[in-house]
Amino acid sequence: TLAGKTAVITGSNSGIGLGIAHELARAGADVVINSFTNRDEDHALAADIAAQHGVTVRYVQADMSAGDACRKLIAQAGACDILVNNAGIQHVAAIEEFAVDKWNAIIAINLSSAFHTTAAALPMMRAKGWGRVVNIASAHGLTASPYKSAYVAAKHGVVGLSKVTALETAGAGITCNAVCPGYVLTPLVEAQIPDQMKKHSMDRETVIREVMLDRQPSRQFATTTQLGGTVVFLCSPSADQITGTTISVDGGWTAL
Ligand code: NAD
Repeated sequence: TLAGKTAVITGSNSGIGLGIAHELARAGADVVINSFTNRDEDHALAADIAAQHGVTVRYVQADMSAGDACRKLIAQAGACDILVNNAGIQHVAAIEEFAVDKWNAIIAINLSSAFHTTAAALPMMRAKGWGRVVNIASAHGLTASPYKSAYVAAKHGVVGLSKVTALETAGAGITCNAVCPGYVLTPLVEAQIPDQMKKHSMDRETVIREVMLDRQPSRQFATTTQLGGTVVFLCSPSADQITGTTISVDGGWTAL
C-alpha cells in the first residue's frame, strides 16, 4: 500500500495521467493532479477521485511549459514521494515545415518540465530516504516515426534523463524509470484520427487498425488503467532494484 505517500502527477486531468492518478489513489496514495487549465471541472475531478478511493486529492494549476511553474508545482504540493512526469503534447509536420513555436513547446512540456520537477522533488525524496520518479516517455522514446521530430527527440531525451536521474539517486532509496506506452486511446490520440482518415482516405475503424495500430502487433490499444497499474508496480517494494530502465507497454511495438 502507498498510504502516507504523496504522488504528484503532471498533466493529469485527462488520459493517461488521470488513469495513473486513479490507480495510485486506489493503492492508497494521496494525489496532486495538475493541468494548466484551472477550470471548475478540474477541481471537481480531484473531489471525485478522492471520494472514489478515500484519499486526499488536490488540483494544482501549473503550466508545464514554464520551468519556474514546474518547480512551484512541487513546492505547492508540499510533499512529493512519487513524481510522475506525464504532461505532453504532440505536433505532426515535416522538419522543413515544423513550426518553431511548436518545437519549443514540445521540448518544454514533454522534456524540460521533467528536469524542473525532478530537480525540485529530489531534495524532498532524499530527506525521506525514499522516492519514485516515473517518467512517461513513449515507444517514440525508443524508436522513431516520420513527421514527429520534436516528440521523438523529446521522448528520447526523457529516456536519457531517466537514466541520469537513476544514477544520481542510486542507493538513496530513490528509483527513476521511464514507461514507454505504445498507442493508448486518449484525447491526444483521438485528435490524430481525423487527420489520418483524411490522409489515407480511410474510415475510422480502418485507420485505427491498419494505420495507427499498424506498428502495435497486438492490434489493441493499451489502456490508461494498465499504465496506472505499471506505475503502481514501479512504486512497490518489488521494484526497489528497478532503476534507470524503460518498461514498454506497447503490445509488442518495440519488439518488431
Ligand atoms: P492527453 O492529451 O489526454 O493528456 C495530456 C495531459 O497533459 C492533459 O492532462 C493536459 O492537461 C496536460 N498538459 C498539456 N499541456 C500542458 C501544460 N502546458 N501544462 C500542464 N499540463 C499540460 O494525452 P495522453 O495521451 O494522456 O498523454 C499523456 C502522456 O503520455 C504524454 O506525455 C504523451 O506523450 C504520453 N504518451 C501517450 C501515448 C498515447 O497513445 N496516448 C503514447 C505514448 C506516450
